[in-house]
Amino acid sequence: MDAAGTEKLCRHIESQVAQRIGPSRYRTWFSDAARFRVVEDGLQIEVCNDFVRRWIDNNYLAEIRDVVRDVLGPDARVHLRLVGPPQDGQQLALRSAEPQPARRAATRQKTRPAMLRGRFENFVVGDANRVAYAAALEVAHQPGRTFRLLVLYGGCGLGKTHLLQSVCNRLSEQHPALGWRYVSGEEFTNQFVAAVRGGWIDRFRGRYRNVDVLVIDDVDFIANKKATQDEFLHTFNAIEAAGKAVVVSTSRHPRQFSSLTGPLLDRLSSGMVVRLGPPDYLTRREILRRRAEQMHARIDGEILDLVARRVTRNVRQLEGALLKLVAVSTLGQQPLTVELVSTLLAEQQPPRSAESMIERIVRTTARRFQLTPDRIRSRSRDRTVVLARSIVMYLSREKTSCSFPEISRLLGFKHHSTVVMARQRVEQMLRDEATVSWSAGGCTHSAALRDVIDDIERELDATVDGP
Ligand code: ADP
Ligand code: MG
Repeated sequence: MDAAGTEKLCRHIESQVAQRIGPSRYRTWFSDAARFRVVEDGLQIEVCNDFVRRWIDNNYLAEIRDVVRDVLGPDARVHLRLVGPPQDGQQLALRSAEPQPARRAATRQKTRPAMLRGRFENFVVGDANRVAYAAALEVAHQPGRTFRLLVLYGGCGLGKTHLLQSVCNRLSEQHPALGWRYVSGEEFTNQFVAAVRGGWIDRFRGRYRNVDVLVIDDVDFIANKKATQDEFLHTFNAIEAAGKAVVVSTSRHPRQFSSLTGPLLDRLSSGMVVRLGPPDYLTRREILRRRAEQMHARIDGEILDLVARRVTRNVRQLEGALLKLVAVSTLGQQPLTVELVSTLLAEQQPPRSAESMIERIVRTTARRFQLTPDRIRSRSRDRTVVLARSIVMYLSREKTSCSFPEISRLLGFKHHSTVVMARQRVEQMLRDEATVSWSAGGCTHSAALRDVIDDIERELDATVDGP
């Protein structure tokens, strides 16, 4: 039999095994950690470590044997072979590209369906997300059929990740034989960079191009790196040429990225581009009702109305508010009255939105260093401005639930890598208990960075209603 024929047989055996043992177990034990190969006298399963070998041997071998005998004949045999961590680009090249077993395990965890919480069943549909919901559902049911590329875009906390994960979970249930991969733009970028440096780019490509549905969350991350953009474009073209599907999320419409290069921009814009907006009142009310039910919290309709009316910005904030109410009423054993809830909502931090929180961080930090907010947002390389700017970026990430690209957009920076690096730098300095110095009012000052940041945080907490 030729290579293509054997390959087909392998895929068939895999899908039979997946059906037999269930998609989620199949994905856990076989997708990343084992590779099927048709050999002369039957099937050889190559596994990456002894633990996986034993586990498959003890739990699934009988079923695999049944499948193999069905497909290859009654005398066919099954061999389990330990191939160790991949080293030369040959072994386990199909679905795994990690250089070391430890990294492999971490990545697999992230891609396991059990780790993806979002489900269509828990998604409340309203005017602001109806089209996005329908489009995601369409991909999950008939991947690649209606459109090859779906781009969901919208601000933070509006349900992008929830929908992307729902697609993966639904695929596992409805099309267990289809391979999908869920990855964040950041992970994709990091893995690509590592693959280039480490010389296993072929394995990296194999891993991404051999899936039926590729899902990349927060693709903004990719948008800032030319080489990663190119790689993504190639991956995308390969997947499209094979008639498969790609789903991505971003914080903005592709045309609003100044950093996207021509071909990728064209590509993304040519997909099905759908916006997720802030939920309307009825959607918010229904989300609250369902969340309260899930938490087994008994909350009056009147109270839910009040929260739905007051907390309007995004779903993440809505969930935060509900959690707080439940916590306060349970811990303090107080009934949730309209008065109490009004007070609690007024106290909620950040006051109205991540956007206004970031605005306050800029102003408070500027004041601390006797700078203007504009100076902080500028490109000045002045020592004091650079320090203040780093602190702003660090605090923006600490005090909001926004992603790096969202923060970078709100601060008016071109590249979110600026934010990523600033945060890393500040964290390192805090770990080193570093002292910083700056000039203000014609004098040079110095203090422990920790103290400076504490001061700013205290002031932020004291000025809930804006500076
Ligand atoms: P994004 O990725 O757009 O920042 P997420 O998908 O992480 O937002 O959503 C934030 C939170 O709100 C998650 O807990 C998610 O489950 C929930 N959520 C968002 N939209 C909805 C919705 N329409 N119905 C139910 N829960 C939602
Ligand atoms: Mg998200």
